[in-house]
Amino acid sequence: SLQDDMISTESSIRVVVRARPMNAREAREGARKCVEYYENSAQIVLNGQATFAFDSVFSDTVDQETVFERTALPLVDRIFAGFNATVIAYGQTGSGKTFTMGTEDNDGTDEMRRGIIPRLVSTLFQRIKQSKVHESFKVTVSMYEVYGDNVYDLLQPDKVKLNVHGDEKNCTIVNLTSVPVTDLKGALKQLATGCHYRTKGETAMNAMSSRSHAVFTVFVEKVRSSDCDSAFSAKLQLVDLAGSERLKKTEADRMREGININAGLLNLSQVIAALASKKRHIPYRSAVITRVLQDSLGGNSFTVFIVCISPADTNSQETLGTLRYADCAK
Ligand code: ADP
Ligand code: MG
Repeated sequence: SLQDDMISTESSIRVVVRARPMNAREAREGARKCVEYYENSAQIVLNGQATFAFDSVFSDTVDQETVFERTALPLVDRIFAGFNATVIAYGQTGSGKTFTMGTEDNDGTDEMRRGIIPRLVSTLFQRIKQSKVHESFKVTVSMYEVYGDNVYDLLQPDKVKLNVHGDEKNCTIVNLTSVPVTDLKGALKQLATGCHYRTKGETAMNAMSSRSHAVFTVFVEKVRSSDCDSAFSAKLQLVDLAGSERLKKTEADRMREGININAGLLNLSQVIAALASKKRHIPYRSAVITRVLQDSLGGNSFTVFIVCISPADTNSQETLGTLRYADCAK
């Protein structure tokens, strides 16, 4: 089964690629498909020449349910065994990160479009309900944004800026809002609030959200209800990363923050590469995004890194950059 695959896999990190369908704009521009998918061997060929191999490859026809079942679903068992888990979406702006994660469009009404977050949270609550001791579970959610070196609370109006405290072993976001929730609906309400505050006041010209990382966190805690019962607490982090595209040099005002953001993404790939090759030293501390994800990457935690790409040749330079990045992270 998928669960067994996951557990028997040596590495606690899986890197998968997902392509979205060609969009209307690409079609209008006469773009051609420049990606071939080999799902059985989990390979991707770009422009008929560069081949990349991953843990799984999902072509543009694979639906949300299948992507969920093959990426995030196996994490549920790990969470109920008390381990932390992380799902991260990476890719250029417009490649399908938010669609895949389900960070928006999250009222759950459109079953076909539902992304990973609502499906995963729904599965968590199903598991809790089935449990004989469901009253001994506590679930809370938080949502925050990492923009350059700053962390903002997304469950507070006006995006309250927060401090990050901690050392090599332990890192906490001080005063991060944490809301208890008892069902899927309650969790999605908080997610909607976070999304609302994230993009509030933004114009297309100043789309800060495409240059920041958004993290939705679910804490699952089981308190001991009897002698034979074991307690645990597990943290699930669902990460919609900043767009990976290179910023144009002329956008001088964006350069500074651009450098910070790219430094975060660069550090993240170094951390994942170091974990995947079981290195001793993991360079968590070089960027804020890796510091705050530290206890959710490596160690006993499980990570699925989902690399999102466009299939169009008009994006093939960015796609090449994305696949190379993911190749380094493997
Ligand atoms: P990103 O978050 O990476 O900037 P989005 O998730 O917002 O990208 O996706 C860009 C657009 O493409 C959205 O309109 C989204 O609904 C659509 N889209 C992305 N992936 C898919 C997919 N697999 N199937 C259908 N539409 C998709
Ligand atoms: Mg997005």
